[in-house]
Amino acid sequence: MNKSTTVVGAGAIGLSTAWELSQRGFDVTVIDKSLTGRGTSWAGAGILPPANLRNSFDPIDRLRGLSHQLFPEWAEKLKTDTGVDPGLQRCGGLYLAETPGEIAAMSGMTEYWQEMEIDCKQLTSDEIMGQEAALAGWWRNTANAAAWHVPDEYQLRSPKYLAALKIACKQSGVILLENTDVTDIRCSGGRAEIQYEGDWQTTDAIVLTTGVWTGQLAASLNLELSIVPIRGQILLLKTSKPLIRNIINMGQRYVLARKDGHTLIGSNEEESGFELGTTESVLKSLLDFATHLLPDLKTAEHVKSWSGLRPMTFDGFPMIGPVPGVENLYVAAGHHRSGLHLSPGTAVLIADMLSQEKPHIPIEAFQIRKNKSNHDGQTHTTT
Ligand SMILES: Cc1cc2nc3c(=O)[nH]c(=O)nc-3n(C[C@H](O)[C@H](O)[C@H](O)COP(=O)(O)OP(=O)(O)OC[C@H]3O[C@@H](n4cnc5c(N)ncnc54)[C@H](O)[C@@H]3O)c2cc1C
Repeated sequence: MNKSTTVVGAGAIGLSTAWELSQRGFDVTVIDKSLTGRGTSWAGAGILPPANLRNSFDPIDRLRGLSHQLFPEWAEKLKTDTGVDPGLQRCGGLYLAETPGEIAAMSGMTEYWQEMEIDCKQLTSDEIMGQEAALAGWWRNTANAAAWHVPDEYQLRSPKYLAALKIACKQSGVILLENTDVTDIRCSGGRAEIQYEGDWQTTDAIVLTTGVWTGQLAASLNLELSIVPIRGQILLLKTSKPLIRNIINMGQRYVLARKDGHTLIGSNEEESGFELGTTESVLKSLLDFATHLLPDLKTAEHVKSWSGLRPMTFDGFPMIGPVPGVENLYVAAGHHRSGLHLSPGTAVLIADMLSQEKPHIPIEAFQIRKNKSNHDGQTHTTT
């Protein structure tokens, strides 16, 4: 086969796609405007919530389920082939609630998990102490405290995952062009070309895995309104040993401890355009949240903080598939809060499409939609 493929963007989605394609016999070149794995993927916390492909029907749950099924095998192969351990750990998750609204939301969530046959259990006082003794004070002092345990939740060391993918790509013959900006795309005669280093180039397939920057790069394809950057901030603390085993989740915020005592607290959602950076107010609210649950973190060392831009789409589904009307152009972008988790599944789907094989799961919900503005400024969506 050896079909030539260019993957633009070397984040979790681009690197995993390149790795999968190279293993299926494609000649792959990956181009990134910066260094490999330094975009949003580097900033991600690396939480992989529970999923079950067998019993899920919603398209995003199926993609999550496919990825969830693939992850342990991928992590093991990456570790064996590259010597870099992506740090995948089935550490379990605790989901906490302390207001009637939060409890109602969690009850809905647990019912949904049960429908998918995802193991989930509401904990008694004794059980929560057995899971996480560090939560004793919070449990005692919170009138409506409730907690659920989900064993099938994983954590991943995002920078290690990206480093392992980079080495695995190189070992499989993928050519990596770093610090190389793809400045434009043009389509003629139903085929796409990309411009970099001053030249127009094309290959049998071009896959845009450019995360939040996809709209800018693909502006001429009228996809520009489809991905919005949503900034999230993270605070990293360090204790002499980990205070917790499970990932502790409450609404959209979480605390997770690495084995070496590094404790990661995230996150928020804010529209800041393409501007990275942290703010005192958000970091303080993250610290307040974490010390409310785990007072021992008050004396933890502050290591660093960072932010990343999540690629959000308006319908909540990533865009994975061919661009309508262009025979050699594909997009895999818009994975919002789950791009690390969804990376193996996305890679497999793109490789299925390029190999002209039946996709592992139905892909209709992820198809690329083009926005077309008419003269009165209204937007019409076509597929
Ligand atoms: C705070 C935070 C916490 C998160 N936590 C989690 C989590 O726990 N679990 C999870 O699954 N997900 C999480 N996410 C989401 C996840 O990080 C993203 O969905 C994912 O990283 C998107 O990956 P990507 O490969 O599409 O984008 P990116 O990693 O941003 O990669 C895109 C690449 O394209 C390159 N590029 C862009 N334009 C061009 C161009 N014109 N030419 C060449 N190269 C270009 C960029 O340099 C970049 O390297 C989190 C995100 C944030 C911000």
